Amino acid sequence: GLSAEAYSLRHEISVVGDNVPPPFTSFESTGFPSEILREVQSAGFSAPTPIQAQSWPVALQSRDIVAIAKTGSGKTLGYLLPGFIHLKRTRNNPQMGPTVLVLSPTRELATQIQDEAVKFGKSSRISCVCLYGGAPKGPQLRDIDRGADVVVATPGRLNDILEMKRISLHQVSYLVLDEADRMLDMGFEPQIRKIVKEIPARRQTLMYTATWPKEVRKIAADLLVKPVQVNIGNVDE
Ligand code: ADP
Ligand code: MG
Repeated sequence: GLSAEAYSLRHEISVVGDNVPPPFTSFESTGFPSEILREVQSAGFSAPTPIQAQSWPVALQSRDIVAIAKTGSGKTLGYLLPGFIHLKRTRNNPQMGPTVLVLSPTRELATQIQDEAVKFGKSSRISCVCLYGGAPKGPQLRDIDRGADVVVATPGRLNDILEMKRISLHQVSYLVLDEADRMLDMGFEPQIRKIVKEIPARRQTLMYTATWPKEVRKIAADLLVKPVQVNIGNVDE
């Protein structure tokens, strides 16, 4: 295999932060539990994508991350698989609320994340619920009441359900802002800030974005603590 340096160079990985661990260039080097490795194998994946290779070792150190990588680069498993490991460590009761919360800009994207979470989390007995607008609240509220380790939500619908006091975020300790640039473009910043107020400050926060404009830098500076920044390819400023 390639050395970590050669791998990073070849895949245009650049990092900003103190003592950033080297990328995991193979699935075997992740140390993920066998049930998770079996899932990636049966999905037919031969190696981590660059964003996964560099996000996983950082996320497994429980550090905050800002990851900047274009669409189609495998960001979803970049945050979901370390989220599953985090869940195994915390052993919270899902009846008391989710431990992992993923915010996503649209119903379509949230549903895709949910599908990936169900597929890769099933063998680890991880339960997931998806909350989005443009659909009746009843079934989503019933899903919440059954308990979920992972909630994937659009900010608008989650905020509505929070205002109804039908979900508690006091156990959330792994927060993902996926497509952060798009969520801000869509005007979700007030909802995101309200949601984050319900989550304990002692948490790990991961932000994934395709672009890195000043609005995204500002919310990253407010919500993340000493994040490691991971860039794949060129970052347009
Ligand atoms: P992004 O969020 O960066 O746009 P996705 O997480 O949606 O990208 O992944 C894009 C596609 O790549 C999905 O179909 C996903 O299942 C697939 N994928 C994820 N990880 C790998 C991998 N390590 N090897 C091959 N395909 C992968
Ligand atoms: Mg994505």
